[in-house]
Order: sequence, then structure tokens, then C-alpha cells
Amino acid sequence: MFYYDSGLFLTSARFGLDVRRRLPRCFVSHAHADHIARHELVYATPATACLYRHRLGKHHRVEEMGYGRPIELGELRLTAYPAGHCLGSAMLLAEDGQQSLLYTGDFKLGPSATAEPAELPRADILVMESTFGQPRYRLPPRETIVANLLELVHDALGQGITPVIHAYPLGKSQEVTKLLTQAGVSVLQHDAIFEISQIYEAQGVDLGDYARYAGTPLAGHAVVTLPRSTHQFRLPGLRQTLSIATTGWAIDPSTKYRLGVDHAIPLSDHADFDELIESVRCVRPREIYCTHGPAEFVDHLRDLGFNAFPLEPSRQRRLFS
Ligand SMILES: [Zn+2]
Repeated sequence: MFYYDSGLFLTSARFGLDVRRRLPRCFVSHAHADHIARHELVYATPATACLYRHRLGKHHRVEEMGYGRPIELGELRLTAYPAGHCLGSAMLLAEDGQQSLLYTGDFKLGPSATAEPAELPRADILVMESTFGQPRYRLPPRETIVANLLELVHDALGQGITPVIHAYPLGKSQEVTKLLTQAGVSVLQHDAIFEISQIYEAQGVDLGDYARYAGTPLAGHAVVTLPRSTHQFRLPGLRQTLSIATTGWAIDPSTKYRLGVDHAIPLSDHADFDELIESVRCVRPREIYCTHGPAEFVDHLRDLGFNAFPLEPSRQRRLFS
């Protein structure tokens, strides 16, 4: 039903899924940079269409797919389901009358302040991302993570220190902003984050009391800026700060040193190890193909009795050699 050619394709329609090179037509699960390319025609949810055009240009042609509203493409019936990863993120269910394939894209189960909650339909074949496919990546309960973030922010503000939160500009930044404004903390955002937040607002997501960072910190305000791994994260005018990174990788104690921040909090927009396993149990697939994750996740699934393989043929050799 599918083949792999430096990217995932549905065979009968020669239709790419998150392929990173220009194609005549391709499904884009969400607008993160590692899932998009300048395709001739993109299939995406309306929110992803806006975010994709913001990133790659307004002239791009997009066939919009609403969640749960199937479209026909040749012999295939294609349906987008929410993936819980960022606004507009989607899984794709492809059905050809004989069998079905679910491609997850990046996904996360459970609640989010700013993304549509994930829905997992049943499918015969599951192609899944497995970023946190090692047992040590079990995240604490979300309430604990959020409480930890708010405590750090309130403590800093109480001492007249500006909390500076580093987060990816699409998804995590809006999630952090909403969590803070809901708790009564106003937010100032880096320009690149503010532009994407405006798209969230236009799509109906109320982020609360936030504004563009205008060059000086304001009392009682937190600042949300880009990850320190980017070159443009620095903002002028900040003096006494407490820096906080928000990433699932914060489960590793070394993360805060690696990122050069005061604190790292495991607020993630990817499924953790337990959610990955839970997702497989929900979908009940006959075959599973794993991508974007550690090779050993396939071994974990096979140990649990699932018929799992790496998606990339070069990795399949490891399994059978
Ligand atoms: Zn992503």
C-alpha cells in the first residue's frame, strides 16, 4: 500500500506524506520545518495551510482537508485526524477498500492548551513517529510539569527577575504563552513567535494577554523567545533573567547544561514512551513501521508481540542481519 523512496509514498496515488523534497502533490501533517517542502500542491488542514504559507510563501497551492472529512484521491479515501502536536497537526488515514494505513506525523496524546486533542482511528498498517521510543522517556504528569513551570515563573517575578522561556516558535511557544496567561502572567514574545501567535488567534485560539517584545522587559511579564539552539534567540534590554527551556528532552538531567539554561522542563508536544505504546494498542495494526526515533523502539514493540519494522529500508537490514 506504500513504498519508501527517501520519504513515504502511498503507492496507488504516488502521493507523498511529509516528503522533504518538491513533489507534484504531498500531504503535510503540520508546518514544522522538518515536515515541509515547496510542493506544487499540498494537502493539509486549514490551520496548517496558513502556517505553511506563512513559512514558505502565500502563493502556494493547498487543498484543504478538514478533520474527519474524507476526500477521494484516485482509489484512495483520505481522512485527516487531529494529532495533538500543534495547531492544525494531522494524522492521515488512507483506505483503498481492502486495507487501511494510518500515518501519525508528529503526535501527542492527552490535553493541550492550544492544539486539537489527538484522535486515533483503527488501521491495518500504522506508520508512526517514535521520537521518545526509549523507556527512560516517560514524562511526569502534565499537571506536575505545568505547576513546575508556573512556580519558577512566579518565583522569578516575585524577585524582580524576568523569566525567559525558550520554546519552538510554532506550537510550544503558543502552548507556554497560554499556560502562563491562564495563570495570570502576561507574556512578551519574540517577533517570530508573535507572528505565528497571530495566526493562532486568527484560527480562533485565544492566547490571552500577550504582546510583541518591544525592546524592554516589563514588570510582571514573562518573556517567550526562541530555543537557544537558534542564533536569533537573544533579545535586547534583558538584564536579570531566569532562563527556562521547555522540551521533552529535559528528562535527561544533562539537558539544561547542554542548552545552557537555568532550568529545563519536560513540557513536550510529542508522545512519550508510554503514549507510543498506548497508541499502538488503540490502533491495533497488523504491521507497524517506525520512523523519527531510536532503532530500539522497534525491538520494544517486537518484545511486546507486535509486528514492527523500521520504516527506512536501510534500518530494516539491522533487524534481519
Ligand atoms: Zn513537529
